[in-house]
Amino acid sequence: MSWLKKSKEGLRTPQRKRELPDGLWTKCEDCGEILYQKELERNLWTCTKCSYHFRISARTYLKILLDEESFVERFSEIVSTDPLKFRDTKRYADRLRKAREETGLSEAILVGEGAIEGRPLVIGVMDFSFLGGSLASAAGERIARGILLALETRHPLVLLSSSGGARMFEGILSLMQMAKTNALLARLSDAGVPYISIMTHPTTGGVTASFASVGDVILAEPRALIGFAGPRVIKQTINQELPEGFQRSEFLLAKGMIDRIVHRNELRRTLASLLHFFAAAALLPQKPRRRAGETLARFRAVGGPIASTPPPAPAPGAPLQPVQADSTPGVTAPGVNGAPSPQGTQGPQGPAEAPDEAPGTTPGGSAAFPADREIPIRE
Ligand SMILES: [Zn+2]
Repeated sequence: MSWLKKSKEGLRTPQRKRELPDGLWTKCEDCGEILYQKELERNLWTCTKCSYHFRISARTYLKILLDEESFVERFSEIVSTDPLKFRDTKRYADRLRKAREETGLSEAILVGEGAIEGRPLVIGVMDFSFLGGSLASAAGERIARGILLALETRHPLVLLSSSGGARMFEGILSLMQMAKTNALLARLSDAGVPYISIMTHPTTGGVTASFASVGDVILAEPRALIGFAGPRVIKQTINQELPEGFQRSEFLLAKGMIDRIVHRNELRRTLASLLHFFAAAALLPQKPRRRAGETLARFRAVGGPIASTPPPAPAPGAPLQPVQADSTPGVTAPGVNGAPSPQGTQGPQGPAEAPDEAPGTTPGGSAAFPADREIPIRE
């Protein structure tokens, strides 16, 4: 009953007040300062006085972050249908149509390939103005394919979130996108391909609870609301006053949930230096890592030493030989986390405690990323 009312309220398509075509001036939504539109635009839609970050569209983010003309959209053919024939006060199909008309987007996320300072990447940017940036099955599928594309090309993945959470109109199908995207991100991590998550205002619900929170590096815009349930619901549930600044990015930085708060003016430069860092790091010998879901015993048996023991010594002749074929970015993953390094992470290093646990599943390599290996239950 009441949740129907709430969803209606929460999924209201925001009016684009600040994009008044005739307005030369815009009022800051936070400090009330009157800002000259051109100046605001130059400042990437952030308040010059208080740094308030206005909400901007996915296309604007792409323009800000990527090299000019470098973005090529992918998977735009994947669109939401209305599998449940859902209807509350309006039909979901009608809501979809309206959102498409108003935003010019076909789904709440744009996924594609691009480059920052010449370094290629796979990028997905959510757009809050499309049904609250909600994560529907189509949005999840686009992200999933983006992750697979990153795996295939070994280009870093960047996902920028702006979302009210799962799209209620698709019920469980929407919720399952959380598991699907995270399972694929675990494979991406196993393959040693970096993933950078950027949280913008707001990042909530199932998006926070899945892919947005598992980046190798998690960035956030200043004062962005980041959380699972809203503060009011939490307050009512635990019946306690919430601390000052609760669920804002500054609070989460202090608690260790995000790695850095980056002003929108600095976002592109920060991404560029991270991409540079990861590209350089990929040239170093890689330490075997535990796969998502891999038991410790199994990892010791087949994957190499655990983190507390030193990584295998570099090959005698060529100490700084890159373990993975970084120079051939086109290849699909056999070198990935360094497991198949010449000296072998399976043989001498693995304690012989469970030799039968080291099946010949990975001849020639990849303890990290064999498609056919069953994933054991996590310890
Ligand atoms: Zn302001």
